[in-house]
This record gives sequence, C-alpha cells and structure tokens, in this order.
Amino acid sequence: MTRATDYDVIIIGGALAGGSTAYHLLQRDPSLRICVIEKDPSYEKAPSALSMAGIRLLFSQVENLQMSQFGSQFYSNFGESMKVDDDNVDLHFWKQGYLFIAGTPEQAADMEENHRFQTNNGVNALLFDAEELSQRFPDISNEGVTRAVFSPSDGWIDPYGALMGLRRKAISLGATYIHGEVVDIAHDGSLVRSVTLADGKKITADHFVNTAGLYAAKVAKMVGMDLPVQPLPRTQYYFECHETFDPLPLTRDQVGVGFRPEGVGFLSGLTDMSRVGNFVDEPNWDAFEEHIWPMLATRVPKFEAIRLKHAWATHYAQNVFDGNAIIGRWEGGLSNFFVIAGCSGHGLQHAPAAGRAISELILTGRLEALDLTRLSYQRIVDNRPYAEKGIKA
Ligand SMILES: Cc1cc2nc3c(=O)[nH]c(=O)nc-3n(C[C@H](O)[C@H](O)[C@H](O)COP(=O)(O)OP(=O)(O)OC[C@H]3O[C@@H](n4cnc5c(N)ncnc54)[C@H](O)[C@@H]3O)c2cc1C
Repeated sequence: MTRATDYDVIIIGGALAGGSTAYHLLQRDPSLRICVIEKDPSYEKAPSALSMAGIRLLFSQVENLQMSQFGSQFYSNFGESMKVDDDNVDLHFWKQGYLFIAGTPEQAADMEENHRFQTNNGVNALLFDAEELSQRFPDISNEGVTRAVFSPSDGWIDPYGALMGLRRKAISLGATYIHGEVVDIAHDGSLVRSVTLADGKKITADHFVNTAGLYAAKVAKMVGMDLPVQPLPRTQYYFECHETFDPLPLTRDQVGVGFRPEGVGFLSGLTDMSRVGNFVDEPNWDAFEEHIWPMLATRVPKFEAIRLKHAWATHYAQNVFDGNAIIGRWEGGLSNFFVIAGCSGHGLQHAPAAGRAISELILTGRLEALDLTRLSYQRIVDNRPYAEKGIKA
C-alpha cells in the first residue's frame, strides 16, 4: 500500500528531547515511521552534551517535581531499558544529593515554603539551619547562610551517555536519523505538511515535533509561531583541588555560585544574563579569578587552593517568558505541530517526561501520565507566566 506521507512523525533536533520523543513513540507503537533530523550528530555544541546533568526533586511546581521524579526513575533504570543487543549503557548516576543554600530572609522563606511543598509530595528533603549545615557537610562553610535544603537521593549523570543511549535505542526500535538541517517548513494554514533540508530535500509527515533546543524559536518561526526562547550564554569551568573531601553534593548557592564534583575535580559555571539573546563562542576566563573563585573559596575554604584546568562556552535555551519548559501541541495554531522548548537549566531531567507527553498527545490526543497542561504554549498566548519560586535554573 502506498502511504501518503514519508513518515508518521518528523522530529526536528535529535538530542535528549528529540531522542526521548522518538523512544517513547516507538515504545508504544513499534510500527510507527519516525524520522529524527539532526544537523550536528557530533552534538559538539548541544546543551544536551554539555549539561551539568543534575537531577533534583527540589522544585516548587508540581509539574517540574513530577517530571523530575519520572526523570530520576528513567535514568536510574537507563542501563536496562536502553539495552541494545545485550549491550547496556552505564550512566553512572552519582546520587550524592542536591544542596540549595539561601542567604536573604526572603530566600529562606521561599525555601521553607518549597520544602513544605516538597515533603507533601513525597520528597525526602532535609531543611537545615546554618549549624545543621556545618554538621552535615563539614567542608562547607555556613557563612551568610540562613537556610539550606538537602535532597539526598538527587544527583547527576553522564549527559553524553544519556544522549547517545537514547539515540542508539531509538534507532534499534526503528527510528531513522537523518543528518541534515531543517531550513524551511511548509504548511497549508491548518496543518504542517513537510520540511525542507539545507540540501533541498523535502520530507513529508503527519506530525512534526520541534525539539531544536537553542534553535527552537528559529524553527518555530518557519511556521509563524513565536517562541520566547533565546540562547543564554554560560561559561562552564572545570577545576581541581588536591585536598580531600567527604562526598559533596551538587550545591546551588544563592549567596555565591554553584558547583559539583566531576571525576577528580569539580564543575562550576557562570550565566551571563546581560548577554541573553546572543551566541557567545569564547568562555569568560577572567570571571573565574575575579568572581567565581572568591565565591567558591568562601563557601568551601579548601577551594582556596584550586587549579582551573578548562573552561568552555555553552548556552541555556532560556524561556525568557517564565523560565519553564514549553511542552505540547500548538493549540490554536497548526494542530500537528508540537514543541518541547525553553527547558532552560532543567531540560535533561525533564526530557524523559516531556518526550513521553508528546508521544501521548500524538498517539491518543491527550496527556495521560502527567498533567502538563499549564506548561503548554497556551500560557504564552494568554500572557500567563508560570514561574518557579526560589532557584529557577
Ligand atoms: C551548562 C549547562 C548546564 C545544564 N545543567 C542542567 C542540569 O543540571 N540539569 C538539567 O536537567 N538540565 C541542565 N541543563 C539543560 C539541559 O542540558 C537542556 O535543557 C537539554 O539538554 C535540552 O535538550 P534538547 O534536546 O531540548 O536540546 P539541545 O540539547 O539543544 O538539542 C537540540 C538539537 O537540535 C539540533 N537542531 C537545532 N536546529 C536544527 C535544525 N534546524 N535542523 C536539525 N537539527 C537542529 C541541534 O543540533 C541539537 O542537537 C544544562 C544546560 C547547560 C547548557
């Protein structure tokens, strides 16, 4: 029988969100014809490959918390569920916990309120005062600390392993990955019909998913959809310290900067809000000595003696409207066009749930496992921001 289209679903962008969408679609219906179009299969600059890869339950909104609960479970079982021909992927889920530190009384009040919400939703999170923080983590100074919250079962994974594991599994289930860049999208006013690649090739499908990350707004514009997603430059730093430490958690310090262990060293980073909307290729080396190092050494006195080994430029795909992901169908627009975009600093942990949600919308027409309605594009149309309280990225 001749089919009217080349594929059932075309996914634009084959990193974590695209891979998760392809995987969940094929898990539910192995007969689907899925095409994932990826412009850079090296993923050299994709946030998915460069991520801090933290997974935390410390959120203030039920959707983010539930997506992280699913993400944590998904990545915990990754080796088994992504197995291909008995070859499994070890993501090294380091469950050393997440620690948030508050400084001002307002930050402390938000943290206490969030902690009540988190415990009510089954999260085993511990609220500390300054003294309790020092007892739990002797290497961390409590200077300027009003409150801290620690979630012991959180941690981080190997992001590149997750990206490649999903890609390999999706291919083994039947997905076709095409190396190409989508440069144009054709529609008839109610439905998207086809994409055109940079080499001129035109591919048709019944459904289209925009998971183009930093370029999601550019792709959306091709169909006349206005996505408030912009690159937010961030320099990542890797440094080493020859002191010995008890295991440290991924620490987000509202008084200073964040860091987490990485191999024999540590990662830290600096987001540059003043340059949101721009792609910045060079890492901000100077900021490390001027700003980052003093803050690190204040929080962890042993960081007085560190050596910066490496720095690289990255970007968040920032939702400048409210900092939260935009997930769902383009209601009121082209009804076979779906997005996962603007995941800002939490897209790795939310990619499993977001991809599953899109698969539900495509296959059943409704959200099933989690109600993510409030994260849909409709809130942008209605000008109803829906933002996290407390630490956002
Ligand atoms: C420094 C840093 C730290 C982070 N830390 C965390 C963290 O601790 N926890 C967490 O959960 N998240 C974190 N994130 C966020 C997370 O990594 C991202 O939200 C997530 O990886 C986004 O995945 P994605 O698939 O949506 O997009 P991307 O990774 O941006 O992938 C999009 C893909 O689409 C492709 N593409 C774009 N345009 C086209 C086109 N026209 N045609 C074809 N292909 C196209 C790109 O080449 C790319 O491979 C961090 C991000 C960064 C940068």
